[in-house]
Amino acid sequence: MGKFLLFTPGPVNVADNLKDAVSKLDICHREIEFNELLTGIEQKLLSLLQIKKRHRYRAVVITGSGTAANESMLSSVVGKGSVLILSNGEFGERLYKTSLIHNDQTHLMEVPWGDVFDPRVIEAYLGRNRINVIAMVHHETCSGMLNPLAEIGALAKAHGAIFVVDGVSSVGAEPIDMESCNIAFCSSSSSKAIGAYPGLSFVIGQEKEFKKLKAHKANTTYLNLATFYEFLETRSQTPNTPAMPLFHALDQALTNILSEGVTKRFTAILARAGQLRRGMRKLDLEFLIDERDMCSILTTVRVPPSINVGDIRRRLREKSIIIYEGKGCFQGKVFQVGNIGEMSALDIRFFLRTLKDVLLTLQVEPEDLMVPVMPLRPVLLLAPDNHDVLASVAS
Ligand SMILES: *Cc1c(COP(=O)(O)O)cnc(C)c1O
Repeated sequence: MGKFLLFTPGPVNVADNLKDAVSKLDICHREIEFNELLTGIEQKLLSLLQIKKRHRYRAVVITGSGTAANESMLSSVVGKGSVLILSNGEFGERLYKTSLIHNDQTHLMEVPWGDVFDPRVIEAYLGRNRINVIAMVHHETCSGMLNPLAEIGALAKAHGAIFVVDGVSSVGAEPIDMESCNIAFCSSSSSKAIGAYPGLSFVIGQEKEFKKLKAHKANTTYLNLATFYEFLETRSQTPNTPAMPLFHALDQALTNILSEGVTKRFTAILARAGQLRRGMRKLDLEFLIDERDMCSILTTVRVPPSINVGDIRRRLREKSIIIYEGKGCFQGKVFQVGNIGEMSALDIRFFLRTLKDVLLTLQVEPEDLMVPVMPLRPVLLLAPDNHDVLASVAS
């Protein structure tokens, strides 16, 4: 079997040198070799986040996927205080559900999936309620929407709250200025824009906020952020046995980004998104949200009328291309095309060509099959606001 081309928001196709990195020397996590490995990863994460006052920030690495890092934050930073979760999608909802388990005073402010937040409504809420922590997803992966860090960070600061960010699908692709956006903690994972294997996640945070965590009682052993910080601070280690091969691979993935240059990497990812989006627009596909609100790592595409999204996914899969179907309220309505990990311009051209063929094939109604030369494009040209036209033609 040949390789799959993962046009997904993660996991991704990893660089060849990561495949060598996972089989590096066996080391013990209580020996100097691991301390050096972890310290190296921490420094590289601070470089990736382009943090200027580096001595004020620390990064802990957790063996567990992105959800583990999010749960570590929500279980460890709120204490007896209150937390406001801002949600406009699947991952915001997941933050809320996680917070409910750990924090008695969990507030939720939600807008429909794929909608933008209104900062004035949030500000008014903060004026009426005593909130200690605000948590928000940066890139809401279910819709592709990039949420406004600077605005919410400023609101948090003005109302004396700390700001906690789920950066699982944006770290490594989008600039996140933790310093100017007043972000106390930001989570991410190894397997999305950073381009390593799944299985590790991390939390980057202000050292002064890490130090405060000891005062809170966390309802978890494994994900207690205070314990991760204590082990990092006192021994440059992790509290429990880390997934060592994945640490080697993460270290290599970060080295790859830094040697390419962080800004260059961001630009390259954005350029791929541009190539994909131009190509898909040419196929008369429409996107779920405004391109100006999109993150650079993926595009959420509306399923054309009369086509079943499962069919698109299966047909592409036959050509070794993997995409994502929409979930929750987007199920059946959208599919998602990622552009992170190892992916060349040639791969993208192959994807676009294959997608075109798949859509044309799926446009063919059973009776049309008798006339293979029928022009197949017109149905595709109907935009969603022309549904009525389509309906009247059909009836
Ligand atoms: C993927 C994702 C997660 C969950 O990460 P896992 O690695 O699947 O646990 C959380 N938040 C966002 C925004 C994501 O995109």
